Amino acid sequence: MCGRGVPESQQDAHHLVPRSHGGKQTEILHRICHQQIHALLTEAELAKHYNSIEALLAHPAVAAFVAWVRTKPDGFFGRTRKSQRLRG
Ligand SMILES: [Zn+2]
Ligand SMILES: [Zn+2]
Repeated sequence: MCGRGVPESQQDAHHLVPRSHGGKQTEILHRICHQQIHALLTEAELAKHYNSIEALLAHPAVAAFVAWVRTKPDGFFGRTRKSQRLRG
């Protein structure tokens, strides 16, 4: 969705239409991108209005997140969970 490569450790399958709404088609997203989508939108909204990557990117808050996350390394989420302090 954000246009960055997705490292294997960060791959999360997102149902474009939530499973609870009968959706089967999935899209591989970064875990951080996936969590952001579900933090912003309910499953009903996803099923009705945001059931494609294009539609998601048209949502202002999703677009703002993507613009921000694009500036981060591909494995951003995993790296920040480890303590930066310990990496010197
Ligand atoms: Zn999802
Ligand atoms: Zn992403």
